[in-house]
Amino acid sequence: MIDAVVVGAGVNGLAAAVVLARAGLDVEVWEANATPGGGARTLPLTEPGFVHDWGSAVHPMALASPFFRAFGLADRIELTAPDASYAQPIDADRAAVAWRDLSRTADGLGPDGKAWRNVFAPLVEHSDQLIETVMAPMLPLPAHPFVAARLGLRIARTGLPRAPWGFAGEAAPALLAGVFAHSISKLPSLAAAAPGLVLATLAHTVGWPIPHGGSQAITDAMVADARAHGARILLDRRALSFDDLPPARAVFFDTSPRSLVALAGDRVASRYRRAATRYRYGDAATKVDFALRGPVPWAAGEVSHAGTVHLGGTWREVAAAEAEVAAGRHASRPYVLVSQPGIVDASRAPEGKQALWTYAHVPAGSDVDVRESVIAQLERFAPGFRDQVIASSVTTARDLERGDANLIGGDIATGQVSLRQLVARPVLSRAPWRAGRGIYLCSAATVPGPGVHGMGGFHAARLALSEVFGRPAPDLTP
Ligand SMILES: Cc1cc2nc3c(=O)[nH]c(=O)nc-3n(C[C@H](O)[C@H](O)[C@H](O)COP(=O)(O)OP(=O)(O)OC[C@H]3O[C@@H](n4cnc5c(N)ncnc54)[C@H](O)[C@@H]3O)c2cc1C
Repeated sequence: MIDAVVVGAGVNGLAAAVVLARAGLDVEVWEANATPGGGARTLPLTEPGFVHDWGSAVHPMALASPFFRAFGLADRIELTAPDASYAQPIDADRAAVAWRDLSRTADGLGPDGKAWRNVFAPLVEHSDQLIETVMAPMLPLPAHPFVAARLGLRIARTGLPRAPWGFAGEAAPALLAGVFAHSISKLPSLAAAAPGLVLATLAHTVGWPIPHGGSQAITDAMVADARAHGARILLDRRALSFDDLPPARAVFFDTSPRSLVALAGDRVASRYRRAATRYRYGDAATKVDFALRGPVPWAAGEVSHAGTVHLGGTWREVAAAEAEVAAGRHASRPYVLVSQPGIVDASRAPEGKQALWTYAHVPAGSDVDVRESVIAQLERFAPGFRDQVIASSVTTARDLERGDANLIGGDIATGQVSLRQLVARPVLSRAPWRAGRGIYLCSAATVPGPGVHGMGGFHAARLALSEVFGRPAPDLTP
């Protein structure tokens, strides 16, 4: 019998493998795809010489997550945070920009500068405690109750019906809409405001960094470390039943709760099985990647400094687009998330050219090619965009699930971001990763949820080290 098997070499499965292997255990990882990384892979999607992130593109958590800090990710790979974390074009030639510098951002928001500062300055000041709070279970108490209360007040101000409150102009609410829409849910909502405010706070602290070479660099650093400590990472190896796996003292599932139950059956505790059955999957994204002749010709010049651009216009317009998706329809002017990695990483495209990453929100399970509506949104804020396109590639919501079984119906968060599933993911517990005796769920479907932070795997592995193996958590430094 070996010590541990990990099903799935996404960032969370690999985080578990790193911790377990460094603790001296015999670890085997099974990954269905030929390339490890799940949502954090980089693939040639368009033309030779253009490098595209298949899934995640922008990585605030790569610098902020307690796991990646302990792992020393920033010492292992090159990550650059642009001066402008994200931008929101509002109309033909007007845009709001969230700079890393909070004061610069507030100064650019005119009459709403003071309100922006009031929302973010206290969160920025306690940013480390904020991250420790949201990266851990809420039971028995939030890690830093005082900071949690401050966050809670701001969630109410920006997430309750008729929010956001206290802003006079269009620019600040538009910026919030862009970042809250990451949750793929109706606006305003408490569930969208909670992770949105955390991301927006990080925009003013570590920034929204881009890994040189793509998100695969993050995955590869973890694969290299796990292998250096003896873990076997087997590719093209899909687990179809529990009996396929080698007998092990602990099994970690970097999978959806649905796959956990399908694979582990009644090895999963009955309360956990019920929660997995009730667990809801959310709406989806469809990727459109572009090979461009040069930079995007943004009408508002400062948008070209932003690593990430949220397209959709005003708060009201973004909310209308998200409401369409929530009602099961494709929005004619969808919310589009754009990453322009070339502003900090020249390795993504041949000289002078640019690789552009985008996705639009679509209803769960969509197989619709939304290329034209994405191009129309880009043309709206960057006239002449179409002429820059050399090639494009569409990965529909269904294709996303085909490429990573965790992304059910194209749900890139592996589970709806609802208020309930922010705290009960998939169960409300001090140890939501423990699914049964020696069985752990460690994917984005458990605490702390989606994002490239490795914390699901980190928590699950440390729990098993203490309760199955009686070993201390190892040092993770390079
Ligand atoms: C299009 C897209 C854009 C995103 N953008 C960002 C972003 O910019 N920033 C950010 O922080 N996050 C982003 N995310 C979210 C982030 O990528 C995920 O939350 C994170 O990667 C989840 O990691 P994970 O390890 O939980 O699961 P996954 O990355 O989904 O990995 C699961 C792995 O398990 C494998 N697997 C599943 N079932 C089996 C089986 N039966 N046998 C063997 N292997 C199996 C899969 O093949 C996959 O490799 C994005 C995701 C997507 C899809």
